[in-house]
Amino acid sequence: MSFVRSNMAILKALKLFSKTFSSLSSHPLRVCVVGSGPAGFYTVEKMLKAHERAEVDIIDRLPTPYGLVRSGVAPDHPETKIVTNQFSRVALNERCSFFGNVSLGSSVSLSELREIYNVVVLAYGAESDRVLDIPGEDLTGIHSAREFVWWYNGHPDCRNLAPNLKSTDTVVILGQGNVALDVARILLRPTMELATTDIAFHALAALEESSVRKVYLVGRRGPIQAACTAKELREVLAVKDLYVNIHEADLLKSPKDEEELKNNRIRRRVYELLSKEATSGPSHPTSGQRELHFVFFQKPDRFLDSERGKGHVAGVHFEKTMLRENGDSGKQIAVGTGQFEDLKCGLVLKSIGYKSVPVDGLPFDHHKGIVPNVKGRVLKYSSGNLTQFEGLYVCGWLKRGPTGIIATNLYCAEETVASISEDLEKGVLTSTSTSSKPGREGLLQLLDSRNVRVVSFNDWEKIDTEEKRLGRLRNKQREKLTTWEELQELAMK
Ligand SMILES: Cc1cc2nc3c(=O)[nH]c(=O)nc-3n(C[C@H](O)[C@H](O)[C@H](O)COP(=O)(O)OP(=O)(O)OC[C@H]3O[C@@H](n4cnc5c(N)ncnc54)[C@H](O)[C@@H]3O)c2cc1C
Repeated sequence: MSFVRSNMAILKALKLFSKTFSSLSSHPLRVCVVGSGPAGFYTVEKMLKAHERAEVDIIDRLPTPYGLVRSGVAPDHPETKIVTNQFSRVALNERCSFFGNVSLGSSVSLSELREIYNVVVLAYGAESDRVLDIPGEDLTGIHSAREFVWWYNGHPDCRNLAPNLKSTDTVVILGQGNVALDVARILLRPTMELATTDIAFHALAALEESSVRKVYLVGRRGPIQAACTAKELREVLAVKDLYVNIHEADLLKSPKDEEELKNNRIRRRVYELLSKEATSGPSHPTSGQRELHFVFFQKPDRFLDSERGKGHVAGVHFEKTMLRENGDSGKQIAVGTGQFEDLKCGLVLKSIGYKSVPVDGLPFDHHKGIVPNVKGRVLKYSSGNLTQFEGLYVCGWLKRGPTGIIATNLYCAEETVASISEDLEKGVLTSTSTSSKPGREGLLQLLDSRNVRVVSFNDWEKIDTEEKRLGRLRNKQREKLTTWEELQELAMK
């Protein structure tokens, strides 16, 4: 089947639906949401509820929906992924259409989307990484945690990452947030316990053959500033037959630390757990036991090249830090002490933060890594002033930065949709809301003309069914298809 004919078939089917819908209103509000992660789906759900005349299309660059629920949430957290049932009900609403395999920036530009739709909501997340900007960062064997997580979760962009798990026994993870803890747990957990999850087949096979025995979780600041939550910490501490090392000296508190703890329940819980672990466990690992080391007050200064000079990481050169109060914010920041030490390893995973990427024509705050906005209304510079970018909104990690759990995006979507509703009521969107726009028909025609083969929700359901079938054969919840070719081939069957 040619690309063009296939897209037109989708269009024909959609027209059948929209006939019913058009009879409700002769002026549908055509909305496009970019990104089908939690922020995108919550936005669609709220939009459909708030506006009877809204017809909402949700596009994603992948052939699969659900964003980080599929490619971020750890495979051994199946209960967290149940939210996809709710999202799939949204996608099946007759006023909603999912179009996968459509990338903002390459399949369609922002200015084109704005021409085609009355309202565009950007919810395409944060798909790049913060960098340390220190020597040796481009050595092989150094990956961002985002890439490693995408690798074990079967994201097609990281199918071929091939992290070095076989020729080293030591991994250094830079960062101590929840993502870092997820990564440590996946590296250290007995693979038997992962085998029934939806972990990607290639990752499970590599982990089964892994020679990694020691994982170092390294933070610039102390245990009081560790950016994780108690639930995730408890989980990694509970990994079967794991030796955990925490230096008691690192747990000493300054008066400023006490103050920080007093004002923050989450930090208090994390600190209590770390303190308990430091004093209760055995003082040495038994032979062959896997080890998890919490290392505080160290900042990476440069990466060490392997002695063979093959451009492979051989370790990290750290500078010891101490905390100093930052005058402006009152926060404690880490400053170098001039004392250095090396930690040898064969794999480094940087878990220092995700970063959003701007597309052409989109205002972007490079310092904060977000789209400048007020309550989801995108702002642009016009004659030296910040003004509202008419018809353009933002939600999720692209709006707030890469923090918060799935549910945070629900409140975020509520806020963005409330802004849209307010603007419609106040007539702020006059030119966009009153004029008739082609909406999905216009989009599908444009994509046809570019030979972009859209993956409909129905096509995704074929992928979903096949993944579950393959999973059953291996006694797994799901066996993900992990290459672009496999995914597209199945969707186009
Ligand atoms: C490793 C990890 C583990 C996590 N675990 C949990 C957990 O256990 N529990 C929990 O509650 N929260 C968890 N979170 C947080 C949660 O995943 C996020 O809060 C949430 O996914 C952010 O939603 P979003 O829609 O803004 O972004 P995303 O989920 O990233 O969705 C963005 C979507 O946009 C698409 N996209 C990107 N670029 C384009 C483009 N140019 N054109 C079209 N589409 C595009 C992407 O393919 C993706 O589908 C985790 C996060 C990470 C990183």
